[in-house]
Amino acid sequence: MDDVLTQFTKLAEEYLEWAIQGRQHGFSNVSDTLNELHAGISKSHPCGAGLGLVGVGPSGDIAPCHRFVDSDQHALGHISTGMDREKQADFLNRGHINAKYDCHSCWARPLCAGGCHHEAFVRYGDTGHPNLHYCDWIRGWTDLCLRIYGEIAARNPQFLETLR
Ligand code: SF4
Repeated sequence: MDDVLTQFTKLAEEYLEWAIQGRQHGFSNVSDTLNELHAGISKSHPCGAGLGLVGVGPSGDIAPCHRFVDSDQHALGHISTGMDREKQADFLNRGHINAKYDCHSCWARPLCAGGCHHEAFVRYGDTGHPNLHYCDWIRGWTDLCLRIYGEIAARNPQFLETLR
């Protein structure tokens, strides 16, 4: 993960150079994060799994996202009967930032919100557990994107209006 962050940093620095010149760069990880910063997003959940999106497998089971497809343990309903609202509420309540005590003092929580539900299940056996194994990496990446956002805001603020 450290190597990935090092390589992401190189590419993000190139993104910054281009943005200062008013040029669009294809590194969407930076664009997505800048977009969230610019919009002032503060997430209740790390992503839209079980909230704004679901995954449906060949069996017809409805899963929180594509990663959980056809996992008996995580089915939130079936396409023939619809969403099981109790199971959905349980999944979303456990994944809510309010339920992740370790994240409450973390400055990266508005963007991270505890990280991927599926990775939390694989690592900790609980979709609602914060992904504490990658906090340093997430904070490093968020710090880098905040710095890039600040540079662009100071040197070419019009670029931020092009973000979608
Ligand atoms: S970086 Fe770690 S502590 Fe901070 S919000 Fe993400 S999972 Fe929680």
